[in-house]
Amino acid sequence: MVSALSAGHPTFAALGLSGGGITAFAIAFVAAFFAALWLAMIIWTWRDIRSRTQDVILQVFGTVLTAVFPGVGILIYIILRPRQTLADLYERQLEEESLLAEMTERQTCPTCHYRVEPEFQICPSCATKLRRACPRCDRLLELKWNVCPYCGYGAGDGGRQAARSGTRTADR
Ligand SMILES: [Zn+2]
Ligand SMILES: [Zn+2]
Repeated sequence: MVSALSAGHPTFAALGLSGGGITAFAIAFVAAFFAALWLAMIIWTWRDIRSRTQDVILQVFGTVLTAVFPGVGILIYIILRPRQTLADLYERQLEEESLLAEMTERQTCPTCHYRVEPEFQICPSCATKLRRACPRCDRLLELKWNVCPYCGYGAGDGGRQAARSGTRTADR
């Protein structure tokens, strides 16, 4: 059919292609198409496997599988490839880490390990003193703190005197 078409076709005649030339051209075209497809599958596999594993042997194996068995190799690869991408794994790891951080952030009583809120002054379970209120601004301070970070109470003599007299400009 190809040769019958080419024989009378002016364009093909102008190109100087005989019937056999057309067939060769068609075969070359199809071959080029499949070669491009094959190459695309190899490139796709290479990119895909690299996003899923850092193991070089696995990366090469997956790519070679696609290259050696065109079409079938890629199907086997898709079935066997690692299910999660490295980006997925990284994301999940971050989630777990933030969850862990949240859990450890929840404070417990140092004596009885009862869970306490950051606003608690005393442990509701064993009455251990957890925090004290600032005498000047009434905000809660850690027991270790010597100075109130909110109002400056206890910072130097001036601060202490000011706290005692109740004014900022305390005179000696
Ligand atoms: Zn307690
Ligand atoms: Zn204060």
